[in-house]
Amino acid sequence: MNLQTYFIEFSYLLASVLFILGLKGLSHPETAKRGMHLAEFGMMMAIIGTLMHFEIVSYTWIIIGLLVGSTLGLAMGVWVPMTAMPQRTALSHAFGAFAAALVGIAEYYSYTHGFKLDELGHVVELGRLNMSAMGFEIMLGSLTTTGSLIAFGKLQGIVPGKPLVYRGQNIFNMTLLATTIGLFIYLIFVPTAVIPFYIMLTLAFVFGILLVLPIGSADMPVVMSLLNSYAGLASAATGFVLKNNVLIIAGTLDGFSGFILSILMCRAMNRSLTNVLFGAFGSAATVAGVEGQQGEMREVSLDDIAVQLAYASKVVFVPGYGLATAQAQHACRELASVLEQRGVTVKYGIHPVAGRMPGHMNVLLAEANVPYSQLYELEQINPEFPTTDVVVVIGANDVVNPDARDNPNSPIAGMPILEVDHARSVVVLKRGQGKGFSGLENPLFFKPVTGMLYGDAKDTLTKLVGAVQHA
Ligand code: NAP
Repeated sequence: MNLQTYFIEFSYLLASVLFILGLKGLSHPETAKRGMHLAEFGMMMAIIGTLMHFEIVSYTWIIIGLLVGSTLGLAMGVWVPMTAMPQRTALSHAFGAFAAALVGIAEYYSYTHGFKLDELGHVVELGRLNMSAMGFEIMLGSLTTTGSLIAFGKLQGIVPGKPLVYRGQNIFNMTLLATTIGLFIYLIFVPTAVIPFYIMLTLAFVFGILLVLPIGSADMPVVMSLLNSYAGLASAATGFVLKNNVLIIAGTLDGFSGFILSILMCRAMNRSLTNVLFGAFGSAATVAGVEGQQGEMREVSLDDIAVQLAYASKVVFVPGYGLATAQAQHACRELASVLEQRGVTVKYGIHPVAGRMPGHMNVLLAEANVPYSQLYELEQINPEFPTTDVVVVIGANDVVNPDARDNPNSPIAGMPILEVDHARSVVVLKRGQGKGFSGLENPLFFKPVTGMLYGDAKDTLTKLVGAVQHA
């Protein structure tokens, strides 16, 4: 090995270690920023190492690619608002997966057109092992590209967000997938069969679209972390094709962390991955049959709630998707500060799937400088509700639905919830009678302990700040 090769291997090793430390850092809000910086530095080392490669004959196209990629990345980082983070992530996945698919196609083309030469200048044949890695990369890369683009379209409202379903859809999709995999297996044995290769490629692109279309937009975070996992595995396969260790390590880390995240999200919703992928949750069919609630909701006045809050000793805020849409995190923090000045203990109860993406509430509250020490996870805050004077539910619905605990026939039965109905008083901030993501009625809103304070969450919280100050 010469000095250049030593440098490349060293930078790849360093990058791999930094990726692992970065992931470890991301497991806690307090270390997340540092983890992100470590991973960024790791990526820079991986790029520098790759640029040192002796196979590079010209830097022209590489520089053009770097400029285009950096400009796009910078623009996405600066202009895309926090609320559009799921769409941004979907686009990034589409780009990453398309890059993996393109590398695979280029390699296949080089092999089948006799451009692949060894050190002595002899043409290298496409063997079964290489074809397996390449086929895997192309199949996963292609379906992740179109799947992520549809996910982006759904989240952005370009493609209808509701599940698009038709009779026999699952059987049709499974047949398409089986055909694609069949062609892949055939190619392992006959790698030079160009026509089956291009049919497999096209079917993989089509499958990505058909896989995501039947899934409702609110399930997109789970789908995206699954697609993230596919993109990671495609990159790992690219690493095998290019004999690049850092791609194998980073791709595997990405692949498995994405998969674990999908499983954790499903567990927090008490749903299986197959139900998310093939269940068309949120469509009329799954929500039908839910009985109407008995009783009436009790509307409360802003001044009454302000007095209750001002004279409470412990208040717990429970944010949900409505906080994100209203962008009410700063107003919420302001109300908390006013209450704290009056000696009230303030805590936040965070459900793992509140909002529409993992860590949604943590990110929003961190943006408003809410201290991490005040954020409590489901298992930590539930035992505290019986000693809580007022729980303020801010645009949350499903995550506080007691039916998940009390009604075994509910579609969300078994989903862990924040048991706010155990508190002495509950006030729910929402605009009207709108349902949550599951489309289910929420018995919490009809309980005697609950008062409804209607209006946009940000407006209501801002008004409460003033009212508490004068209480
Ligand atoms: P949710 O059940 O979707 O309910 C949100 C509530 O916010 C609605 O009932 C709505 O009622 C209210 N709202 C909307 N805009 C508002 C505004 N501007 N001001 C005040 N209120 C507003 O939300 P959640 O309790 O956070 O539950 C999250 C759901 O998403 C769960 O079912 C979860 O399984 C699902 N999910 C989450 C993830 C994730 O990663 N976090 C991923 C996939 C699925 P009004 O219309 O009456 O205002």
